[in-house]
Amino acid sequence: MCDISTDYCISYIDKKNYNIYNTNGDIMDKQEKLNKLYKECINELNSININIEKSRKTKTEIEIRINTRSKKRYGCCKKISKDNFQIEVSEWVMDLNEDIIKNTIMHELIHCMPRCNNHGEYFKKYAELINEKLGYNISRTGNKERDFSKSNLEYKEKEIKYNYIIICENCNQNFYRQRIKRGFSRKYRCGKCGGKFKIIKL
Ligand SMILES: [Zn+2]
Ligand SMILES: [Zn+2]
Repeated sequence: MCDISTDYCISYIDKKNYNIYNTNGDIMDKQEKLNKLYKECINELNSININIEKSRKTKTEIEIRINTRSKKRYGCCKKISKDNFQIEVSEWVMDLNEDIIKNTIMHELIHCMPRCNNHGEYFKKYAELINEKLGYNISRTGNKERDFSKSNLEYKEKEIKYNYIIICENCNQNFYRQRIKRGFSRKYRCGKCGGKFKIIKL
């Protein structure tokens, strides 16, 4: 279990370079920063009478940690058992502005509520309530380009390297592919004109 009870009430934020300092004056590491923001989210939820811990008959336990592998998703929420959840926030998200990090935490926290394991009706209801009452911007999916530019960071989508180009010999329609199934040009015909495909290795 991670320790979320550490008190950071006299920590402060250096607005110039977005570092957060702990009570010793040291720059907080990412897990510390995550714990602090998580605690803020929980307190804000309590202020509008949403208490996740008490949303079930038994106390809901939540662990929050950083995922260093995921480059794509912002965060995820794993259900370990019926009242035990594990929230992960991707490491790259921790470099973004705090409001974006907290949006991610809030999004995953909603998934810890009863009947909120998907983005259905109940999830939407909570998201709308939190957005309205607490000024969040929780949505189903994130927008990386917008969130990076808001954080003054450059966003680069990893470029895909294509290895093949498939061209219809008849109408010249073409597609780029990384891989091609065996016997492709034998098995498939152009969807537009029924022509034969030619494959060129790039
Ligand atoms: Zn979600
Ligand atoms: Zn064709």
